[in-house]
Amino acid sequence: MKKTTLTAVGGRDPARQAGAVSPGPVRASTIVAPTLAEFDAMKRVRPGDGLTYALHGTPGVFAFEEALAALEGGGRSRVCPSGLMAITAPLLCFLSPGDHLLITDAVYEPARKFCEITLKRFGVETTFYDPLLGEEIAALMRPETKVVFLESPSSLTFEVQDVPALARAAKARGAVVMMDNTWASPLYFQPLAHGVDVSIQALTKYVGGHSDMILGAVTATDAVYPTLQKTWRALGVSAGPDEVYLAHRGLASLPMRMAHHHASGLKLAAWLQAQPEVLEVVHPGLPEDPGHALWRRDFSGAGGLFAFTLDAAAAPRPALAALLDGMRYFKLGFSWGGIVSMLTPSDPRPVRSAGGWPRAGRADGQLMRVFAGLEDPEDLIEDLDAGFARLRAAAR
Ligand SMILES: *Cc1c(COP(=O)(O)O)cnc(C)c1O
Repeated sequence: MKKTTLTAVGGRDPARQAGAVSPGPVRASTIVAPTLAEFDAMKRVRPGDGLTYALHGTPGVFAFEEALAALEGGGRSRVCPSGLMAITAPLLCFLSPGDHLLITDAVYEPARKFCEITLKRFGVETTFYDPLLGEEIAALMRPETKVVFLESPSSLTFEVQDVPALARAAKARGAVVMMDNTWASPLYFQPLAHGVDVSIQALTKYVGGHSDMILGAVTATDAVYPTLQKTWRALGVSAGPDEVYLAHRGLASLPMRMAHHHASGLKLAAWLQAQPEVLEVVHPGLPEDPGHALWRRDFSGAGGLFAFTLDAAAAPRPALAALLDGMRYFKLGFSWGGIVSMLTPSDPRPVRSAGGWPRAGRADGQLMRVFAGLEDPEDLIEDLDAGFARLRAAAR
């Protein structure tokens, strides 16, 4: 079955849904048994494997988790309240005091804080590794290194990681490999097929897709799922049926939206490359990008998130404000993956410790993250064109 068919039919079984095409949300707390025999049988079901108590899942949640696991290409998927929790909960499931964690230096920043503050408090030591390391990560591994965490490409600086090489090196030394795959979604990259044990995504972004919900998901291989499940259950991780319903609804149109984001993003990238104030466009889908070869090898698309570096001399603060304050379609904020296009001025320099930003050979300036939303790219280019005209007038 092709992925576009999977997203359309996954978790949708009219026979189980009174003939309806989609499973609706089941709002429940307790799940009641009609007889003592069925009550006893319910107690024998492992939480998450069937109906026991709504904390561990309801029919709509199980249907969505099935659809997600199919798109991920195997394993077991579990939903949780946010993308951030889809990172933090698995780390809690696999790490204990005295353990060591290797996490990419280009990781989503709130995840970095969780390692530096919370995991440290629980006696777990974190090393941030250069995202461009491959097999060489072996040199950083210790006997107590239990997890190697990837995010590729980074959702701010877009370094593409050699996922199979990192996974091979990590697993050869007994570590569990986790990856935040929000940038590509399982439509454009399947972590499990590239050696990852735990695939993570913020459904808030592309799967939800409509800028109206927060949700996360974790997909674990059958081999590591039992370890995940034990602490997942102990933590009481659960997601509301209405958010899960919205995510399932979003899943059906994911391939069409992703194709639009991908094509629109490349059009904006090409336009930006031609602007004199733009020093560099950071987009693995561009042939001149340092990550392009790896991206081509492993990914089947890019979505709409990338960045560009603005010449700092050409864009002093008032000029940057002139550009951003007058945008018609582009919104100023943090999230992405939804309906609207976004611009996010960012500075990764203060937090990076391994490999650094910008790397040797790359442009140094004001980093601007761009998300190409569901609007027509021609309107978006017109918006950017007017913005750059304001920037030039203000800088003069
Ligand atoms: C947004 C995001 C998250 C967190 O998702 P929330 O649902 O907002 O908590 C995690 N990883 C990446 C790469 C993201 O972009």
